[in-house]
Amino acid sequence: MPYEHIKEVKDQARITPIETFPDPKTAIVILNQHSGKPLSPLVAVGDSVTVGQKIADSKERISSPVHSPISGEVIKIGNIYNHCIETFSEAIYIENDGKKTKDKSLLPISESELGKTKSADLLNIIHEAGIIGLGGAGFPTHIKLAPPADFPIKNLVVNATEGEPYDTADERLLIEKTANLLRGVNVIKKILGNPKVTIATKVSKAAAVPKLQEVFGNEPDTTVVAGHFKYQQGDASVLQKALFGYETPPTKRSYEMGCIVQNVATINAIANAVFEGEPLISRVVAFNGEVAQPKNLLVKIGTPISDIFSQNNLDMTDVRQVVVGGVMMGHAIPTTEAPITKRSSSIISFSESNAKKEQKQTACIHCSKCISACPVKLHPILIYNAIMKPDMEKAEKLWNKDCIGCGTCSYVCPSRIPLASAIMASR
Ligand code: SF4
Ligand code: SF4
Repeated sequence: MPYEHIKEVKDQARITPIETFPDPKTAIVILNQHSGKPLSPLVAVGDSVTVGQKIADSKERISSPVHSPISGEVIKIGNIYNHCIETFSEAIYIENDGKKTKDKSLLPISESELGKTKSADLLNIIHEAGIIGLGGAGFPTHIKLAPPADFPIKNLVVNATEGEPYDTADERLLIEKTANLLRGVNVIKKILGNPKVTIATKVSKAAAVPKLQEVFGNEPDTTVVAGHFKYQQGDASVLQKALFGYETPPTKRSYEMGCIVQNVATINAIANAVFEGEPLISRVVAFNGEVAQPKNLLVKIGTPISDIFSQNNLDMTDVRQVVVGGVMMGHAIPTTEAPITKRSSSIISFSESNAKKEQKQTACIHCSKCISACPVKLHPILIYNAIMKPDMEKAEKLWNKDCIGCGTCSYVCPSRIPLASAIMASR
């Protein structure tokens, strides 16, 4: 492999079972968590809401509704920092009444009904449940699972590689929710017309591999591949190359290669929606980094990140940087008042001494490490120089749009040049 192996920091968190985090006193539900245009509120200040009630939606095709994670009263609609888009966006603030009154509009089916349920009805449940790609991309799942009819899907890949160096939420789902993942895979198979299934995981997930083999091992047309996948192979196109040998041309989507790659947490959410009638109002979040006890928390979406710090007795004066969604592809957040979103796979805390901020940028020393490390064979420093000039025509000729945002070039650069963020912002 041409690219760098990135060290994992998962020893503690990966062996720590998922713990349910208490419901927030005030939930802050952001209206722009999916990739697509923001939603419009369906509620107003003063309205009462129930757990799982749809509170914002859009008529746009590429969109996904959000739901109240608690029961209570809408007390404000205002702006809050949104790590998904690295700026402020509109959110609905809900004060918890502690009653946990449930909304029952999402109607589940039983497992025995799956065979006779139409794909369109399953897609409708997934849409109404607000499910988006929980691996980070945030693309609405009901759209991803409905590729054009002239592209039949031969392969479903369950992306269980979770390469982000500090993230362990998916790994705990693989261990603790294996049977539920099988239910989710069966839903997707039904929708896609029974493709072959490949579960791609890493040998380093020592407790997850035997569980996957036990639950999926005897399923028809299903293979569990436990490989030495590197971090970058968590990307859909890079993973397909590792599994099947073909390269996905930059202009093509996975479905055009007859493949759908689906993340573990998303599959878990699909099973919860279809068989339990649960919209996406909580997710597992790894709490890792320089914390006393790295762990995995089942957190209501909309919980302020500051609640997680305070309930884990972390002294905020020691915290210099908080990264949400993975150290490689996530973002440092300017305030912990920001809430957990559907895309918050991890919260990683760094102390004063180790914060990236302390590492000063210096001039390029022409070592070419960024070039040899790029998994999609780009020349990051040349693209960066073109962007800085700015000469966007040249950046495009250097294929800046093919960047998968893996962050490896920035990681390996001894001069601490922010190559990846500049290239991603230029796309
Ligand atoms: S962030 Fe983009 S340019 Fe940098 S290594 Fe990854 S794919 Fe290559
Ligand atoms: S890794 Fe950094 S220092 Fe080395 S060539 Fe790339 S940009 Fe320059």
